[in-house]
Amino acid sequence: MDKKNFSPESLMMTYGYKPELSEGAVKPPVFQTSTFVFQTAEEGKAFFELAYGIRGKEKNEELGLIYSRINNPNLEILENRLSLWDKADDCAVFESGMSAISTVLLEFVKPGDLLLVGLPVYGGTDHFVHHFLPEIGVEVMGFHSDHSFEDVVEMVEKSGKSDRLAMVYVETPANPTNQIIDIEMCRKVTEHFATKEHRAKVAVDNTYMGPIWSQPLSLGADIVIYSATKYIGGHSDLIAGAVLGNNEVIKRVKTLRTFLGNMPSPHTCWLLLRSLETLKIRMEQQMRNAKAVAEFLNSHPKVEKVYYLGLLEPGDEKYAIYKKQYTSPGAMISFDVKGGEKEAFTFLNSLKLFKLAVSLGSTEGLAQHPATMTHAGVDALSKLELGITDKLVRLSIGIENVDDIIWDVSQALEKIKVREGEAIPA
Ligand SMILES: *Cc1c(COP(=O)(O)O)cnc(C)c1O
Repeated sequence: MDKKNFSPESLMMTYGYKPELSEGAVKPPVFQTSTFVFQTAEEGKAFFELAYGIRGKEKNEELGLIYSRINNPNLEILENRLSLWDKADDCAVFESGMSAISTVLLEFVKPGDLLLVGLPVYGGTDHFVHHFLPEIGVEVMGFHSDHSFEDVVEMVEKSGKSDRLAMVYVETPANPTNQIIDIEMCRKVTEHFATKEHRAKVAVDNTYMGPIWSQPLSLGADIVIYSATKYIGGHSDLIAGAVLGNNEVIKRVKTLRTFLGNMPSPHTCWLLLRSLETLKIRMEQQMRNAKAVAEFLNSHPKVEKVYYLGLLEPGDEKYAIYKKQYTSPGAMISFDVKGGEKEAFTFLNSLKLFKLAVSLGSTEGLAQHPATMTHAGVDALSKLELGITDKLVRLSIGIENVDDIIWDVSQALEKIKVREGEAIPA
């Protein structure tokens, strides 16, 4: 078998690491060093010429190790391995998902530009695009999953800034409601407004589904972003982010990262390398568990509505997009309890196996209340419009025994009180 044909999961243990450069150690050591020794002054000069783009790469020339803000073996091996899943030319890792997101936005969206954002997005992203970017003169326009291509085109035209459309940024499925947006449609919007010299970039936050179940680059995205704190890290023990794309995109992202200095530490990279080895089996188990939990919730009398892609039916409006973009319904479930904040809190306070915490994608189950926690900063009107209500609960399903998970959800739902002779409030 040709080595090139190995699946990503087969390469996560070894790819991009040469044991002979590290005393034969089967796993990469943590390269806990700030700087690297040049063999000669000429070599140092050549490395900097590449790092600062003073000249292009010679054939087969690799960027040498310089200084750990620019590169480090743990960082590079991690970037090479992460690139495999999304079939990306290259990857840039970050010290957090938010630093990945803000660096991408700062690099590709400039004062005077128009940014289109699919809503809802992660609370931190929402804050950055609605509070920080307008302050530096970026016009931000939101759209959501019910808007068609024609709607979005019309919105852009009405803004009078169609010539300054710089990026269409989407998170799909969106946190916390699992709404999905058609990535191909976003690409078409950028093509519609493209000139000979410029086409706006499509950026997709793929944290919920990637890199195992969706590869947005193959669907027309230019940039894929992750909070690697979530599934990729997967153990609730680190904060990190990643950006993937073609060489041109990642070169720009890495250059800004060099000067913002928001790369992850060698130790964080090392932990992520360890996480990548089990990424696929963790996510698959989480998905199997989530399917069973969603089915259980869907038929429970104290649950009003379940938001889970696996419950979409072939006749549903979003079914075709779901099937086109994802090979799995994922492992994130949101649902409305019958009632409001009080009932939602009773459920959350009664959980015994799930931990009441924000974040997601970890081996342990996590539960939270988006309206007052992760999305507390979203303005009230948008919350209502996006379905982030007081009765909404979000579950991140872990790898625990599925019967234990369902037992926990079941007993916590039972704790929601329905007063004698009173219907459960709608
Ligand atoms: C958590 C999260 C982020 C932010 O990532 P951090 O690693 O916490 O900075 C961005 N997008 C989504 C979808 C997330 O869940």
